[in-house]
Amino acid sequence: MKQNLIDIAYLVSGIMFIYGLKRLQSPATARKGNQLAAVGMLVAIVATLFLQELLTPVQMLLGIVIGSAIGAMFAKRVEMTGMPELVAAFNGFGGIASALVAGAEIARFMAHNAADTGGNELTAVSAITVALSILIGMITFTGSFVAFGKLSERISGNPISFLGMRFLTILLVLVSIGSMVWMAMEAGAFPAVSDPVMYGAIAIAVAGALLGILLVIPIGGADMPVVVALLNSYSGLAAAATGFVLNNTALIVSGALVGASGLILTNIMCVAMNRSLFNVLVGGFGGDSGSGESGGGASTAGLTVNSTTPDDVAILLSYANKVIFVPGYGMAVAQAQHAVRELAEELAKKDVIVKFAVHPVAGRMPGHMNVLLAEANVPYDQLFEMDEINGEFETTDVAVVIGANDVVNPAARHDKSSPIYGMPILNVDHASTSIVLKRSMRPGYAGIDNELFYNSNNQMLFGDAKESISAITNEVKQL
Ligand code: NDP
Repeated sequence: MKQNLIDIAYLVSGIMFIYGLKRLQSPATARKGNQLAAVGMLVAIVATLFLQELLTPVQMLLGIVIGSAIGAMFAKRVEMTGMPELVAAFNGFGGIASALVAGAEIARFMAHNAADTGGNELTAVSAITVALSILIGMITFTGSFVAFGKLSERISGNPISFLGMRFLTILLVLVSIGSMVWMAMEAGAFPAVSDPVMYGAIAIAVAGALLGILLVIPIGGADMPVVVALLNSYSGLAAAATGFVLNNTALIVSGALVGASGLILTNIMCVAMNRSLFNVLVGGFGGDSGSGESGGGASTAGLTVNSTTPDDVAILLSYANKVIFVPGYGMAVAQAQHAVRELAEELAKKDVIVKFAVHPVAGRMPGHMNVLLAEANVPYDQLFEMDEINGEFETTDVAVVIGANDVVNPAARHDKSSPIYGMPILNVDHASTSIVLKRSMRPGYAGIDNELFYNSNNQMLFGDAKESISAITNEVKQL
């Protein structure tokens, strides 16, 4: 009876996860989808802890209150630009949780062994599952925290490698496989769990921890969001493996969903950057941002740029028929999204058609721009994906680029020497006029100069994006 109730609760939570995930497809429903999946997880946790009589209701309530308070504090305190590293840290905690649960399973088997209660021997299959859970969990844990360090600039964003690194990596993989086989062989032997299983698990935990570090340090800081998406998928796999260890359906289902969606997301990001996952993992692309130097791509030496003022931009926008805003990472840095929404509203009052063009990898995490614009209450029907809006730039009077750089660089179309060659871009250069808001001529994430800035129909408005937009809005209001 109790097991039936638990199974029903897991089924309900599984449906909530899947439905919640489906709702993440659109910014309009994403918030609700997230809440639904969170409630699904609550149902699964409460059913497990309550019906299995593992905790009393008071203990459970205490856990929920403390956990929710910590989560709420993190979520409130984190800056929008710090979101990717928060996600990385949460991933890391997911990984270590899986590894610890698997470790606890071994301890439980050993306790049964010591007490000689019988009937509790660890099978070879479950030993491999435990080993996988520890290995993937530890890789996710240390890998995610290296990603966290790189994203928050506590560790250099430059790719790090050393002599013999590849050899060490292969050695650690071999140690992990060897320990796994050893654990499986020893686990089958009666009585239950012997010391070698424990030593095997410790060896795998250490190898996994080192592997996580070695796999992420050679990757450039700028590729960290892709790595975080991949590690997210690993944390799902670790959770699913733990689900098999515990024979827990909810963990298997949720782990598999996280694993699969993380992989799909990784793929979407790679396609949007026109790079293979292999290239991301070994490419060493993109170091510390804001180095001030531009390298690679076509030479723009000797070319000049037109600079403009907020007043001139205000006039141009006020008398336009159609304006497309193109937000990028700089909008997140400047926290300009609310100011941008206000400007869009002022222009709409003047019957200007206003749209927002969102590139899939604008910013530093998937959906970064959608999240910011949604936070500022920009109507969803004004947001357009790249494929939907790219054909419209030709009939657009003014395209306003707000702190975006690589995602509007025409070099991606034709310059084979450019590191972003082949990346689909927003066709800002097809608009009658383009205005670029940024602070300097410094390059963006890919570290390359941008041809767009030198076009005769392009104007640069230098300064912090929020201040520039506010100044433009003030002027638009006067006109
Ligand atoms: P970029 O990193 O290319 O450019 C951002 C620009 O914002 C900079 O040139 C910077 O210029 C400007 N900027 C910074 N701060 C401000 C400010 N306060 N006010 C005004 N401007 C500012 O950003 P994009 O969004 O165009 O491109 C994203 C890049 O990140 C792509 O190369 C993509 O491949 C990569 N990437 C994205 C991921 C994602 O998930 N979204 C994942 C991995 C990589 P200045 O310093 O002169 O102000």
